[in-house]
Amino acid sequence: MLDSLNKALEEQLKDLYSAEKQLIQALPRMARAASSPTLREAFTLHLEETRRQAERLEQAAEILGMRPGGKRCKGMAGLIEEGKDVLAEDGEDAVIDAALIAAAQKVEHYEISAYGSARTLAERLGQSRVSELLQETLDEEGATDKKLTQIAEGEVLEEAAAAGRGTE
Ligand code: FE
Ligand code: FE
Repeated sequence: MLDSLNKALEEQLKDLYSAEKQLIQALPRMARAASSPTLREAFTLHLEETRRQAERLEQAAEILGMRPGGKRCKGMAGLIEEGKDVLAEDGEDAVIDAALIAAAQKVEHYEISAYGSARTLAERLGQSRVSELLQETLDEEGATDKKLTQIAEGEVLEEAAAAGRGTE
């Protein structure tokens, strides 16, 4: 029952914990599917970061005296499902990389939105340490999103566009 802001925050944290856990499973597959070494490295680094993000949620849960498990984030499940469609495709390496980046950025934006809301709830509840932990992760998700844009603009899209021209 959502009868207090505390409970709303707890539900958000459980949802995020499930989201991060699902990503820990999915990111190695994304990394293997990437052809650009820069992109592969970005996915691998974000996997390490994601493990720490899950730990931060465990810390936040401990502060709040709750368990972070027991919920399945359906939003992340859907986004990962869409990512799997990309993994199943054959095609030009750079075009697949561009599609992987698009899928990964949807994930980052979902997380940015969810962490932003949870951080604001924690702040309102006077849970400053929890709010700090959430802000730390929020910053990492934002940086990952920007990095993905840079990789797309810096190398992947040019090659992907050239690949398309070859088949016209
Ligand atoms: Fe994350
Ligand atoms: Fe992320």
